[in-house]
Amino acid sequence: MKNVQFEEDILLVPEVFDKLSIVEENEERFLKGSLDIIDGTGKVWETFQVEIKGSESYPYAFPRLYETNNAFPKNADWHVYENDFSCCVDVPMSEKIICKNGLKVADYIKQYAIPYFANQTYRIREGYYLYGEYSHGIKGRLEFYQSKLKAKNPAELIKMFDLIIKDYNPDRRAICPFCYKEKFRRCHRDAFRELQTIKNYVATDGLNLLEILKVNPNFQLPIA
Ligand SMILES: [Zn+2]
Ligand SMILES: [Zn+2]
Repeated sequence: MKNVQFEEDILLVPEVFDKLSIVEENEERFLKGSLDIIDGTGKVWETFQVEIKGSESYPYAFPRLYETNNAFPKNADWHVYENDFSCCVDVPMSEKIICKNGLKVADYIKQYAIPYFANQTYRIREGYYLYGEYSHGIKGRLEFYQSKLKAKNPAELIKMFDLIIKDYNPDRRAICPFCYKEKFRRCHRDAFRELQTIKNYVATDGLNLLEILKVNPNFQLPIA
């Protein structure tokens, strides 16, 4: 996906990451090369072959990241999207919040791509993820919401989604409708404000959750 801003931003990247260079294929310029994962002592733990390409909404969305040397399986369980085999670096709603002011590709590599590969390295060697991260797909999205909202049950989460979508923003003395004793501004307000920036995802996932409950009324929320 040709993205002019991305092609401009990558010009500076090889100065910072000297194993990445700029290549051009089908009139699209992107980054290709390797990323070293360095452990706490400065020793290279693992080296990944990668390609980093522009995305439609960059810099308001992550670039697309590909691992090109089959270092790990290309499936959802390993956080790889199965439609285009790009790396699933974070759940989409979290990505949207991270990129809301624009995220440059060099910062993306430092803050997200390298930690992603560090996690993959750990799993390749030890068989599991060190930091226990979000799952892929709807389960991962519910974990993400729960890390912020901590609903006690699915019905409560749906009620929260509904208020978020309706821009619920009560008086500063208002008691939280979920925590009762607390003032809303001291417990759920910040999470509501954050999720109001990605209302379209919240609305869709509210419908997804209702569908799940139709099939399985005893569905339990993931513990965050
Ligand atoms: Zn994933
Ligand atoms: Zn609350």
